[in-house]
Amino acid sequence: MTETIEAPAAVKQINHWIGGRSVAGTSGRSGAVYNPATGRQAAEVDFATVEEVDRAVQAAKAAFPAWREVSLAKRAELFFRIRELLHDRREEVARILTSEHGKVLSDALGEVTRGLEVIEFCCGLPTLLKSEYSEQVSTGIDVYSIRQPLGVVAGITPFNFPAMVPMWMWAPALACGNTFVLKPSEKDPSASMWTAELLKEAGVPDGVFNVVHGDKVAVDAVLEHPDIAAVSFVGSTPIARYVYETATSRGKRCQALGGAKNHMIVLPDADIDMAADAAVSAAYGSAGERCMAISQVVAVGHAAEPLIEAIKARIPKVKVGDGLDPESEMGPLITEAHRDRVASYVENAPAEGAKVLVDGREDAPGGGFFLKPSLLDEVKPGMRAYEDEIFGPVLGVTRVDTYDEAVSLVNENPYGNGTAIFTRDGGVARRFQFDVQAGMVGINVPIPVPVAYYSFGGWKSSLFGDRHIYGPEGIDFYTRGKVVTSRWPDPATSKVDLGFPQTR
Ligand code: NAD
Repeated sequence: MTETIEAPAAVKQINHWIGGRSVAGTSGRSGAVYNPATGRQAAEVDFATVEEVDRAVQAAKAAFPAWREVSLAKRAELFFRIRELLHDRREEVARILTSEHGKVLSDALGEVTRGLEVIEFCCGLPTLLKSEYSEQVSTGIDVYSIRQPLGVVAGITPFNFPAMVPMWMWAPALACGNTFVLKPSEKDPSASMWTAELLKEAGVPDGVFNVVHGDKVAVDAVLEHPDIAAVSFVGSTPIARYVYETATSRGKRCQALGGAKNHMIVLPDADIDMAADAAVSAAYGSAGERCMAISQVVAVGHAAEPLIEAIKARIPKVKVGDGLDPESEMGPLITEAHRDRVASYVENAPAEGAKVLVDGREDAPGGGFFLKPSLLDEVKPGMRAYEDEIFGPVLGVTRVDTYDEAVSLVNENPYGNGTAIFTRDGGVARRFQFDVQAGMVGINVPIPVPVAYYSFGGWKSSLFGDRHIYGPEGIDFYTRGKVVTSRWPDPATSKVDLGFPQTR
């Protein structure tokens, strides 16, 4: 009998974007991109060589002088155009996110919306770049400060927010007059190419925004490149630390955001239903693949039993499936290997002394890289399930007797990204915001991602560098200051013009 072998479905090739056009890679090295809901390969992405990264940097370098000359008025106008285009076409990019990352479409739209907020913030760039002026600091002498772009800057981004996290970087970088080279995650690179085409359509000049794909070779080429002035990184802690140390040792400015282990403290006086809704949403949304996901609930005193019961009651109702199905609330994980790694925490939990209350490996949909929500009880420091960033739909519960013990757990943790407290006691909540060592704090809010006009960033091993990302600190990061001291002996030349003054 002859065996029929099914021909593989057409696999799309994803190239780099250099100098305003798509450029095929020459390295002969590439990576597979999957649709995590089907488990099938959907594309192949080129991995850049050192020379290809250099081409992108040279394109950005060549575009910089003209880009920084563009007036604030014109740059702001362009940002309004980008905002309109992206807003009109947000569903298109959301579908790309769902098909390569796996998150459900409504969540993908949420990602784009939060990214759009950063672009909207950047539409105010003329205000953001205002400086200070002191008249008559000495007789006839004035002093003022100005903020100028750095030049070519780079962004290296993770798989879990393939559109939003790059927007945290390129939007303020471009708004401040820099040109940009993006190295997105090789696991879901299409959103970056979509963004490049959209920026071109909006009128961003060629070379201002470039994309190179790849792995460590491309990252190292970015870190080593003498013409890159600053690097923004978002990803896991070991790579964030490496990027920060390498970039700064090469004289670059660097902000490197790392991983997280976000604790949610629930006090006995909390609204237990509200806390359970929050825990389930924040632990299992986007299959737990969010750096602001809640992965550890700390139940204080008699909050534990009712809270665990309420969480358990909600878990079976979470609909797991293909993110394009409007019924689905939670999609698959990014790769098979990651799904298996996450599942291993559930498998090993009993041997470590934790209890598996809900096992997400049971009845997970087949085909793609699915896992259902898991709940572990009696998780304690020292256990792998407690110490590691699992980055999947596994929620651990730790029981403690007092508020002080709960806060100590958060403060002793090496990460310090986000944290939350659930209570009705305003005094304790205020004490918590004072005591806790984390960069983003929620009070009865489980995922306290700052709005775009504040800045995003953690403490401790969740951020290497001095400045948080986007918001005012983002503007600071992508500019450097200059102070001018001036004296004018003569009045400037002038001419008569009766027209109403216009920006140019
Ligand atoms: P990752 O660290 O594996 O990858 C991030 C980037 O680094 C990618 O572009 C990747 O190609 C590159 N990279 C990977 N290995 C490298 C190496 N050895 N040398 C040089 N570059 C390398 O992270 P990920 O798995 O894509 O994303 C998930 C991680 O990102 C989680 O730890 C999550 O907490 C973190 N994250 C943090 C934030 C935050 O704001 N703090 C936001 C989103 C994600």
